[in-house]
Amino acid sequence: DRTPVTVIGLGLMGQALASAFVAAGHPTTVWNRSADKAAAVVEQGAVLADTPAEAVAASELLVVCLLDNDAVHAVLDPVAGSLAGRVVANLTSGSSDQARENAAWAEEVGFSYLDAAIMTVPAAVGAPESVVFYSGPREAYDRHGDTLRLLGGGTTHLGEDHALSALYDVSLLGVMWGTLNSFLQGAALLSTAEVKAADFLPLALRWIDTVKLFATDYAAQIDRKDGAFPANDATMEVHLGAVQHLLHESEAQGVNAELPRFVHGLMERTVAEGFGQNSYASMSELFRTPRK
Ligand code: NDP
Repeated sequence: DRTPVTVIGLGLMGQALASAFVAAGHPTTVWNRSADKAAAVVEQGAVLADTPAEAVAASELLVVCLLDNDAVHAVLDPVAGSLAGRVVANLTSGSSDQARENAAWAEEVGFSYLDAAIMTVPAAVGAPESVVFYSGPREAYDRHGDTLRLLGGGTTHLGEDHALSALYDVSLLGVMWGTLNSFLQGAALLSTAEVKAADFLPLALRWIDTVKLFATDYAAQIDRKDGAFPANDATMEVHLGAVQHLLHESEAQGVNAELPRFVHGLMERTVAEGFGQNSYASMSELFRTPRK
């Protein structure tokens, strides 16, 4: 199956996307505001369209990867009439509100809209471990799944709600930063005892496996929505005591204590709100609502 595909936007990411389609033998049409960026993919076998209108007309499947949502509208609004009946997979980073607005626009104009989030770098596009998230009409995703999966082995349809790709994207980045920040802070603390980060690493990685078990229990506790949060492993009081040690050590050894202080503050509030005998998952109550 060699579905024709059009790639709109040939920045670093767009070029990688177009290359992957060309390499798999799909007739690939490309367009970019600055035409010179098409040189490499045209060399590989892509066809450069002179105008966005020509690029849209070339394929039923349009893959769009521009700087931001404003750029998407700058390019597509003038050709909206010719989008009807096509599938637009928007791999441009954006918010969940923008995704839903674009979906409403697609409904009006009469095209299928898939909002996507690319969880990888250009060099890894097409790799088996690379993840691209899609949300929007399942039928459109299924119709072009074989083509879209060329961009990464971990390509996944998250659901019909267009907001999902953007929400998963930032939520996973949050997990990444949370984990990395604690690793960096711990490495700084251990460096005061001449411990190399490389020696901290294997123990940190094994500890992450333990944390996975905690998270698995907590996911179930959060989803039960009964506010019970049974302390199957440790109570919030015990966690509060432990984070006090981290805070104390950071201050005593003279490394940056902002992160431990912030986490300590969250735990203190959770205990103050009456969750002292509950599990760490009871902190989710704090995260579910903005601070008054
Ligand atoms: P680049 O800066 O390399 O490319 C930006 C693209 O947007 C270019 O094609 C540029 O055209 C185009 N563009 C910008 N403004 C306009 C406009 N007003 N009208 C028409 N075209 C416009 O960015 P990337 O390719 O790296 O990123 C593209 C998208 O992919 C972004 O949303 C980014 O967040 C997302 N992404 C990127 C990742 C990465 O690692 N690079 C990872 C995950 C997501 P021109 O060439 O003419 O300037």
